Amino acid sequence: ARTTRIFSGIKPTGHLTLGNYLGAVRRWVDEDQHRADALFCVVDLHALTVAHDPARVRRLSRQAASLLLAAGLDPERCTVFVQSHVDEHTRLAYLLECTATDSEMRRMIQYKEKAARERGGGDGVRLSLLTYPVLMAADILAYGTDEVPVGDDQTQHVELTRDLARRFNERYGQVFTVPRATPPAVAARVMDLQDPASKMGKSHAETSGIVYLLDEPDVVRRKIMRAVTDSGSVVAYDREAQPGVSNLLDVLAACWGGGVRPDEVAGRFGSYGALKKETADAVVELLRPVRERHAEISADPEYVDGVLAAGAERARQLARPRVDSAYRAIGL
Ligand code: ADP
Repeated sequence: ARTTRIFSGIKPTGHLTLGNYLGAVRRWVDEDQHRADALFCVVDLHALTVAHDPARVRRLSRQAASLLLAAGLDPERCTVFVQSHVDEHTRLAYLLECTATDSEMRRMIQYKEKAARERGGGDGVRLSLLTYPVLMAADILAYGTDEVPVGDDQTQHVELTRDLARRFNERYGQVFTVPRATPPAVAARVMDLQDPASKMGKSHAETSGIVYLLDEPDVVRRKIMRAVTDSGSVVAYDREAQPGVSNLLDVLAACWGGGVRPDEVAGRFGSYGALKKETADAVVELLRPVRERHAEISADPEYVDGVLAAGAERARQLARPRVDSAYRAIGL
């Protein structure tokens, strides 16, 4: 049996958040790179699907790559690269566009939400926002991926990827592995501290409800101490009735790790204040080494360039034969 292949990505649409870290990056570092052949990609093409500033996308791509290394991805163990450096993604995306339907795309929850936001902006909705999940499917399928470690918000897109892989294989012959999403057990969806009904999103406007990986400790502390809690006073894990408190419990349980469940954590606190303080301390300690290493790594741009060049080279070698087979299978 061959080694499990893992693929996951991060969009350079903003500064990485605690949600990205707990929902995805931390497992890439602690587990995935050790147990599988794992590829982690800064998916910069996806950042062009909504109004963007070219210089900012370029800057955020580099920052995302340096942060992944700072978080502990080891280029000796895994492949770290930038999506636009590897042409196979867009080559394959076109074939998959010929496999998918427009109604499938319009059903995607993220499309509906983001398209509504963009329509308000006046410049119209970019066609690439509609076809975004197809490019994401190409990202995944190009590598024969078995597992896609992502947060909850991406599971619908991975379902679509599975459908497209199966459909392509049935119509044109066995080319693609059918992957599966592997969301984390805890903190699969970290919510905004000021608005626990919406997810903590890096692409959202910056507010005190979003904790960024590069926030200074006192900023992290202030944001968490000011988190919106609920009108009750009992610390209980109930995401429906007590979304604010439950979000903090998710974050704290995830920081503690080791399979601790958020409802177990709840029993240890008699007040919201005590829970917030403990959570703030835990998050500060969790992020401290990442922030420190990021300062070192970002001071050495040649190192980052070298990692990304080697990563792209390996990614290309892995993707090209499979994408070439797909071209032949579909009739080209
Ligand atoms: P964002 O939505 O913040 O722009 P990306 O789309 O780049 O993030 O997603 C990168 C990874 O982080 C994905 O695996 C995604 O599921 C995960 N993720 C993003 N936001 C959260 C969150 N609030 N909680 C948990 N995981 C998240």
